[in-house]
Amino acid sequence: MHELTVTTERHTQLIDITAQVREAVRGAGGAAVLVYVPHTTAGLTINEHADPMVARDFEMALERIVGEDWGWQHLEEGEENAPSHPRASLMGPQVIVPLRDGELALGTWQGIFFCEFDGPRTRSVYVSVLA
Ligand code: ZN
Repeated sequence: MHELTVTTERHTQLIDITAQVREAVRGAGGAAVLVYVPHTTAGLTINEHADPMVARDFEMALERIVGEDWGWQHLEEGEENAPSHPRASLMGPQVIVPLRDGELALGTWQGIFFCEFDGPRTRSVYVSVLA
């Protein structure tokens, strides 16, 4: 398993990690790669990365889909991140990408995004090649 480090700069931020994942699996002989985040307020998704504005639109949409002022009950002192948890689960903690001749078999417009919902932080991403 490879472990990538992602440093986020904003509270809600999608970061394109396609190049890092591609490098981690280069030459691997498996059928697919599992990309996984061991976090409860971050997720992963695959979507368009040709236009970086798509990621900005995701950030806006997820902040609106799950509101800040909904009467949250998860109120840890110094860590008010209740909306961050459902936002992360909407994206999910993993993606699986098939490998073709050792390369990510992504569509022309697809990229892999790390989705931060409680930044800025330093995060981990696990990359495992599946046999
Ligand atoms: Zn929390």
